[in-house]
Amino acid sequence: MLYVDGKWVEQGEAAVQPEDRGYNFGDGIYEVVRIYQGRLYQWDAHMVRLYRSAREIRLTLPWSEAELTAIARQLLVKNNITPADDAILYLQITRGAAPRQHDIPADGIRPVIMAFVRRKERPLKELQTGISAKLVADIRWLRCDIKTLNLLGAVLVKQEAKDAGAADCILHRDGIVTECSAANLFAVKNGELYTHPANHLILHGITRQTVIDLAQQAGIPVHEQAFDTTFVRQADELFLTGTTSEVMPIISVDGQPVGSGQVGPMVRKLQELFEANINQSVQV
Ligand code: PLP
Repeated sequence: MLYVDGKWVEQGEAAVQPEDRGYNFGDGIYEVVRIYQGRLYQWDAHMVRLYRSAREIRLTLPWSEAELTAIARQLLVKNNITPADDAILYLQITRGAAPRQHDIPADGIRPVIMAFVRRKERPLKELQTGISAKLVADIRWLRCDIKTLNLLGAVLVKQEAKDAGAADCILHRDGIVTECSAANLFAVKNGELYTHPANHLILHGITRQTVIDLAQQAGIPVHEQAFDTTFVRQADELFLTGTTSEVMPIISVDGQPVGSGQVGPMVRKLQELFEANINQSVQV
């Protein structure tokens, strides 16, 4: 069952208003939350980011965090998500429906919520073997820190990588590397981690922050500083982080091996730390 605009509906029964601004303009925000063993992972962090995204697009959410949490819990129950299930929860909020105009309607517009859960296995095979990536120009807008429904840039860069036979893209703006299509990027050099600073050019990934915290607790130096495509090609190891991709090794870039071309020891170590964190912090 899905939760759509205040109602519980079956798949196929959900309807979209033709002039919903999410549908017309991508005028809305979303979150994807991991469910491990039937329980929500890092729900609180996702809520903080959702409310921040809302503020940044000048959208006042009419739901409290407690109300959204109640909806999430009901979604798990109504869809029979049990401790045997790994899944994702998708939650989106659009600004609502109004006669089409670009500027934000002054009043009389009511945000529309939609949420569902879907069973989803962890990408265990890829986490073991690693994936390939292609360097692609980052054509997205300049507010990548907002988790907005406007994902056409991400769609096109991911497809460009896929067309070249790579699993994902590593995005760069004039040679400065930002992130991946739906994940953050880390490079490993001489036992230290490098990742783009959390500014307007990347999404402030929750998994990114978890990995930074876990690394620092383990005494691994982390540099939140921009680096270029040459640094990527010369990295000892590369990996991306994301809610569904976790700590995913990248073993080749543009067909060339990263480091040894095998999944490296730093990624293995961070995967272990991440696994322990999953088991400790699943909640709800
Ligand atoms: N960067 C982009 C562009 C994303 O879309 C995502 C997730 O969808 C991420 C990074 C990773 O963020 P998180 O770890 O919060 O899933």
